[in-house]
Amino acid sequence: LLQIRALHKHFGKTEVLKGVDLDVQEKEVVSIIGSSGSGKTTLLRCVNLMEEFEDGEVLLDGESIGYRVSGGRRHRLGDRELSRQRSMTGMVFQSFNLFPHLSAIGNVMLGLRKVKRLPKDEARSIAESWLRRVGLGERMDNHPSQLSGGQQQRVAIARALAMNPKLVLLDEITSALDPELVQEVLATVKSLASEGATLLLVTHEMRFARDVSHRIVFMEKGRIAEQGTPAEIFGSPKSARLTEFLGNAR
Ligand code: ATP
Repeated sequence: LLQIRALHKHFGKTEVLKGVDLDVQEKEVVSIIGSSGSGKTTLLRCVNLMEEFEDGEVLLDGESIGYRVSGGRRHRLGDRELSRQRSMTGMVFQSFNLFPHLSAIGNVMLGLRKVKRLPKDEARSIAESWLRRVGLGERMDNHPSQLSGGQQQRVAIARALAMNPKLVLLDEITSALDPELVQEVLATVKSLASEGATLLLVTHEMRFARDVSHRIVFMEKGRIAEQGTPAEIFGSPKSARLTEFLGNAR
C-alpha cells in the first residue's frame, strides 16, 4: 500500500532523513521506534504531506505523493491535489488537536461535512458509529474540556478513522497522557488493528509495539537501522545501537 523510496529531507543544512526505504502492506501494522531526533515524526509528516522533501518518492496505492516528475524535474502538486492526497491518510497526533468549541461529535463530523461534503444526517450517523466504536457512545455531546485526555485522544482517533483513509498514521499518541489513561487508547488502537486497519505508528511504548505490530522499524539518525518482526527486534537485536536503545527504553 505504501512505498517509500530513498527519501531525503533537510531542515536547513541538517539532513534529517538520509535515504529512507520502507514498505507497508495493506492491513499491516508497522511501528517505528528510535531515539529522540532520529526522524520518526518527520517521516510520518512527509507521508501525510505536512512536510516537503527534496529527494526520493512516496507512493500510496501506486500514486506518487506530493510531487509529479516531468522532463526529469520534480514539481510540487497544486493545493487541490495535495488536499485530495492528504485525505488518503489519517493522522493522529500526540496533542489531540481537537477543536475546543466543538463537541466530540462535532469534531468527528467536521471533515465529513467540509472535506467529504456529506449531508448532515449521513455525517452524523458515521460519526456516531465511530464514537461508539471507540467507546464514547455516552460522550458524544461533550466538549474536549469535559473529556479526559484518553477520551479526547479517542475522539481524535474516531475523527481520523471516520474519513475512511487508506492508511492511518499515529504519532506518539499516548505521550501526552497520564499513565492510567494510556491503556484505554492502546486498547482502541489494538482493536482497529485487529479489524484490519493499515497502521504506521511512532511509539515509545515498547510493550505496545511488541503486542500490536507485525513489523518494527528501528530508526537511527535519519536512517532505518534495523527492522524485523517483534520477536526478532526484541528477542535478538542485531546492532549494538538497537540493543542499547532497548536497554534504555526498558
Ligand atoms: P522524537 O521522538 O523526539 O519526537 P523524532 O525521531 O520524531 O523525535 P523528528 O521530530 O522527526 O524526530 O526530528 C528529527 C530532527 O529534525 C530533529 O533533530 C529535529 O530537531 C529536527 N526538526 C524537526 N522539525 C523541524 C523543523 N520544523 N525545523 C527544523 N528542524 C526540525
